[in-house]
Amino acid sequence: MILIEGQKLYCRLCNKEVNKEDALFFYGIEPNENKPLAIFNDAIVHKECFEEHPLKQKVLDRMKEFEKYQSQNNVDYITGEDLSLENIGHPDNLINVFYLTDDKNNPLYKYNGISLNKRNLSKWKEYDKFLKLLIELNASGKWEGNALKYLISHLRSPIRAPFTKEFLNKMKERYPDKFK
Ligand SMILES: [Zn+2]
Repeated sequence: MILIEGQKLYCRLCNKEVNKEDALFFYGIEPNENKPLAIFNDAIVHKECFEEHPLKQKVLDRMKEFEKYQSQNNVDYITGEDLSLENIGHPDNLINVFYLTDDKNNPLYKYNGISLNKRNLSKWKEYDKFLKLLIELNASGKWEGNALKYLISHLRSPIRAPFTKEFLNKMKERYPDKFK
C-alpha cells in the first residue's frame, strides 16, 4: 500500500474518512479473502474502530507472529545474502512472501514472510515444490483473492536486468541509507 500525500483515507471498517493521526495501518497479514482477518489486510482503520472490533486480539497476535517471521527472514531465504539493491539488481527481483497459512501442519507454513532474491531462484532446490504448493492452494477453493495468483506469476516471470553501475552510484549518493 502506497500512501500519497494529500490523498483522502477511508476506514476499512466504517468507510468514513480518517486522518493519518487517528489511523492504524495493517500490511500483508492476511491476503486470503476467505479468512476473517482479511478485512484488515493492507487496511487503514480508525484507532477507535479497531479498539471495538471483535477480532482485535487476533489481529494483534497475527501482526506479532508475522513480524517475527519477517525479521527472521530479512535476508534472501535461498542464500542467506542480504537484500541490498546491489544483490537483487532491480527492485522487481525482490519477492516478499506474505502470510500464506496459519495451519502449522501445512507445508507452506515455514514460508510465511520469507524474502526471495529472484536472481537466486534457479539454484533454489525447493523452488519446484514451493511453486507446486502455491498452485495447489490457489486451486483448492480455500484461497480467495488475487494475491496468490500475483505471487505465482512473480515467481515465474523473467528476472529483471540489473541497474547499471553508473545508475547505482547515482542512487547511492541520493539515498545513502538504502545502501548500508
Ligand atoms: Zn472507522
